Amino acid sequence: PNEQAPADPTKKTLVILGSGWGSVSLLKKLDTENYNVIVVSPRNYFLFTPLLPSCPTGTIEHRSIMEPIRHILRHKKTEVKYYEAEATEIDHEKRVVKVSDLSDIKGDVHSTEIPFDYLVVGVGAESATFGKTDCGVMFAGIPGVKEHACFLKEIQDSQKLRKNVMDCIETALFKEQSPEEVERLLSMVVVGGGPTGVEFAAELQDFFENDLKKWMPELADKFKVTLVEALPNVLPMFSKALIDYTEKSFRDEKIDVRTKTMVKNVGDKYIDVEAILPDGSKEKQRIPYGCLVWATGNAIRPVIRNLMNKIPEQKTARRGLAVNDYLVVDGTEGIWAVGDCAQSKYAPTAQVASQQGAYLARLFNSMERKEIIESEIEQLKELEASSSAADDKTALQKTLAKKDRELKKFAKISSFEYTHQGSLAYIGMDRAVADVSLWGGNVASAGGLTFLFWRSAYLSMVFSTRNRVLVIMDWLKVKVFGRDVSRFV
Ligand code: FAD
Ligand code: NAD
Repeated sequence: PNEQAPADPTKKTLVILGSGWGSVSLLKKLDTENYNVIVVSPRNYFLFTPLLPSCPTGTIEHRSIMEPIRHILRHKKTEVKYYEAEATEIDHEKRVVKVSDLSDIKGDVHSTEIPFDYLVVGVGAESATFGKTDCGVMFAGIPGVKEHACFLKEIQDSQKLRKNVMDCIETALFKEQSPEEVERLLSMVVVGGGPTGVEFAAELQDFFENDLKKWMPELADKFKVTLVEALPNVLPMFSKALIDYTEKSFRDEKIDVRTKTMVKNVGDKYIDVEAILPDGSKEKQRIPYGCLVWATGNAIRPVIRNLMNKIPEQKTARRGLAVNDYLVVDGTEGIWAVGDCAQSKYAPTAQVASQQGAYLARLFNSMERKEIIESEIEQLKELEASSSAADDKTALQKTLAKKDRELKKFAKISSFEYTHQGSLAYIGMDRAVADVSLWGGNVASAGGLTFLFWRSAYLSMVFSTRNRVLVIMDWLKVKVFGRDVSRFV
């Protein structure tokens, strides 16, 4: 007996990979009664990534920005199956996904195949461990990154980072530690001046200024945050005025911003960089570190790379699966891709992923509605042909005309259009920068009021009321008691 068989053989099977921004936004708006829906993801929760940079320092607790996938699925009209597993291979010709339970506890069956009629790929991306130029051209991998750096993409990364930071501090305070070693251990180096690197550097400096200094006054003047960026400035997606404001704020906060500085090699206690000096010459420098955070953007996941290699139309794709204007994966049928694993003309952001997910929900809802109307029209036509009474025929023709009009409405599926609502970033000391699209124009703002806007905007976006309450409580807790300085999470 095949217990995994779709619940209703009359419906098409829609398999959704991932439980992130793209997939969850699709699930939220999808009429699940139209399909046998199966979700596969190694993460049995949705993660609100915009507040993740606040987690390693304890401004926000991890669970406050996690929403269990079961909570999301429970609210759907019909049952949606969820399997905690990773898609290891997508066979677009046989129309099956190979999935494996890669968690620690495994049952007798831990690998299987899931056939699909439709597939939505929303597996996101992994942290890049190579260098990258601003135009996306990669060069040879940077040695030592995987072995020595911490990342900031998943909850586990944040937990590791929190432990590492506290471990460096306590180790620096160990009896008879030499001044050079203390300086190294308290050197926190963040590589990548994109929003992840900037927000985390700001949170770390806040942690030091507001809490660590208070509990460990001997750290004063020794704890140092350095932000290393290969480009001439940080936050390239923001307007010039906000970039200048951020860099000045960082200088005020005593964060050492090293732009035009490319990391070339990572050792266990130092990084080797190549800095471009004001006269245009290049200089090799060595920066010692206690904790190294690597935030240089995204890399393609192996399951996506493997699929791309099988499809000739994907040969020129660089950032992920090339998709058309309807988000269909080029060179396939009935397979769509959303979010960071897709290469579209938009940046890999939560905003884009969630709008793409919502678009696919509308598309699937209308596709199904269209099929239902088409079959109703078929039946009406048969009835009309077999009916002899003139009155019946007229009534049937009227209904047919109505159904035809309805069908036209659903048959016209427009392509995906992205609406940019703006960019926001926290830059420390209760200040934020915002480039917001308003009334067809762009409004740039920065400072304390923008920080309140940043908080309220993110609060309105967090997944559920439960998350919202938890986040508010975390902010209040930090305001009243400060951040916890114990090492364990
Ligand atoms: P994700 O949200 O990463 O979800 C991918 C899902 O796929 C996960 O559930 C994962 O477990 C699952 N998965 C992975 N591998 C497999 C597999 N093999 N099989 C099945 N499932 C798999 N964007 C903004 O717009 N604003 C912000 O403020 C912002 N802040 C950010 C802060 C940080 C620290 C980071 C790292 C990113 C931030 N982003 C922000 C970017 C945003 O998080 C991503 O663009 C967004 O998460 C992409 O959504 P996604 O659905 O493609 O992928
Ligand atoms: P990113 O790609 O935006 O920035 C990475 C930075 O690292 C780049 O500026 C790059 O020049 C630099 N870099 C790469 N290799 C380097 C090297 N060897 N040495 C020095 N610098 C190097 O990455 P991110 O910040 O992780 O963001 C990823 C995506 O998530 C982006 O689309 C971003 O917009 C989005 N995001 C948005 C927010 C927000 O809106 N607040 C926050 C976090 C992430």
